[in-house]
Amino acid sequence: MKINIALLDQEAGACQSFRFACPIETIDEHNTASWIEGNVEVEGKVCNTGACLALTGEIHAKANRVCHRCLKEFSAAIVTSFSENWQQADGDSEVIRYQGDELDISELVRESLVLAEPLKNLCSEMCRGLCPTCGADLNHAKCNCVRDEIDPRLAALQKLLEK
Ligand SMILES: [Zn+2]
Ligand SMILES: [Zn+2]
Repeated sequence: MKINIALLDQEAGACQSFRFACPIETIDEHNTASWIEGNVEVEGKVCNTGACLALTGEIHAKANRVCHRCLKEFSAAIVTSFSENWQQADGDSEVIRYQGDELDISELVRESLVLAEPLKNLCSEMCRGLCPTCGADLNHAKCNCVRDEIDPRLAALQKLLEK
């Protein structure tokens, strides 16, 4: 995902839009975003502010996830955005984001996808999960296991009361 900024670089105030669609493998060599499947689409704008290049954009992708509660695989659409200011690499800058006329946003896109990932994925907010005793998927089946439907915090309290 490389943007040629040869023209943009010479004119403060100028903006340039960009659009990419490429398979996740091309920007994620080390498979650090393995849940992403298929094409990653990016649309955005880069503006020369005079002091830096301001990048903004939106990413669309598809994720293959596993539900934290029922372990079912499901796919979900991901939409996330980014906004960063990049400075031309000079002698004392710490992070070199671009050099010369080319801006490579592959890593920015990969990072944004990783950061957009929630800690817990649920197939639905209403997912009832699996029975901890027999493993039945409670979204589709009822089992005969006896379960305490008690909030674990209350359960601790109940134990104290029983003493
Ligand atoms: Zn689920
Ligand atoms: Zn059960």
